[in-house]
Amino acid sequence: MSNLITVDLIITARWMVPVIPAETVLTDHSVLINEGEIVAIMPSADVDSSYVLSENGKRWDLKDHILIPGLINSHGHTPMSLLKGYADDKALKTWLEDHIWPAEGQHVSAQFVEDGTKLSMAEMIKNGTTCFADMYFFPEVSAKACESAGMRAQITIPVMDFPTAWASGPEEYFSKGEVVLDTFKDSELVTIGFGPHAPYTVSDGPIKDIVRLAEKWQAPIQIHLHETAFEVEEAIKTLGQRPTERLRDLGLLTPSTQCVHMTEIDDTDIAILQESGAHVVHCPESNLKLASGFCPVDKLQSSGINVALGTDGSASNNDLDMLGEMRTAAMLAKAVSKNAEALSAHKALEMATMNGAKALGISHLVGSLEVGKQADLCAIAMSDLALQPIYHPISQLVYCNNSHNVSHVWVNGKALLADRTLQTLDEQEVTASAVRWGEAISASANND
Ligand SMILES: [Zn+2]
Repeated sequence: MSNLITVDLIITARWMVPVIPAETVLTDHSVLINEGEIVAIMPSADVDSSYVLSENGKRWDLKDHILIPGLINSHGHTPMSLLKGYADDKALKTWLEDHIWPAEGQHVSAQFVEDGTKLSMAEMIKNGTTCFADMYFFPEVSAKACESAGMRAQITIPVMDFPTAWASGPEEYFSKGEVVLDTFKDSELVTIGFGPHAPYTVSDGPIKDIVRLAEKWQAPIQIHLHETAFEVEEAIKTLGQRPTERLRDLGLLTPSTQCVHMTEIDDTDIAILQESGAHVVHCPESNLKLASGFCPVDKLQSSGINVALGTDGSASNNDLDMLGEMRTAAMLAKAVSKNAEALSAHKALEMATMNGAKALGISHLVGSLEVGKQADLCAIAMSDLALQPIYHPISQLVYCNNSHNVSHVWVNGKALLADRTLQTLDEQEVTASAVRWGEAISASANND
């Protein structure tokens, strides 16, 4: 009788960054996975004396690669990939009210959402992302698309005061939303939450309903908050309160709430975040492109607030590249705090992995490479000439341009990308459908 333990997946890599413990680089180590769960992490030389591959198991020997936890994109609007580049170089208010909302009014449908979600997922997988948080219409369509592509996601039920293609108003957002919550309540990959668009598009009544329903369903909440100075000034002028104060008073800010953007914040806002335990999702490239403002990441983190990272939608970025977003976040944090030591390469990687998992309430499952966690991983080939020489693998990962070097991605131990080829989505089909949508949207555009 052999004493060897059987596993169904062994991944060996030149370098491994488990994220926990911090700043750790393991050299020539292997991750052993069985039924989607990490069962051991050990020096590659010791594997064969303790473990054996099952009959249909797979072994990857990634000699020039760095293995990291799968990246978590904590905020976006995946179907908006179909509006990528549609209205660039405009401020948030004009961009949204004069361009994006009219185009959405004309084109958003279940098919638009399905095709846009697939396009975004294909791009994200190719860039090393295993999990994303999404806020859009037809959430049931996005959730189904995630399950079939094998991606992990938090999909939120949209809530606004006004009608959209999905629902006629708050009452219908909630009635349809509860059906979606019920449909996906046992999903292994998808968590359904509430996505009130922003304080200025959702009034007190629906906010209170969200608080009640989120409690009932134990559902997370994600909201755009303090995106611009204009938003904060208008709220003070019309309601006499900062948006954070109003949401705190309405009970919306809890440890299950993710506040996206938080660019215009003062000590009152920081104290509210600290007391409530709410998370911040930083979207630096979207904030830069829309000239929305700067999120003081370093100050938030030193105040003990969890800060995750997101790309926002492709219509305001214009890509879904979390490796690039990490680099921008690190650079911007240094510039904003005038401190080159702010947001180190490892801290940026933490934001894109562990902090995202904490914000989305799934840190017991993913976010780091640890025994007992699900095998959501990403491998990046480090043999590119532009990456040589490699003194510090984590720095090279974050500060060099790497998204095109992502070679493998797994979720729950299932390969979604192998040798740079998508395994669960058809790249040609996804590309062709995006081209068709672009032609249809251009043909009907009134987009000066
Ligand atoms: Zn957004």
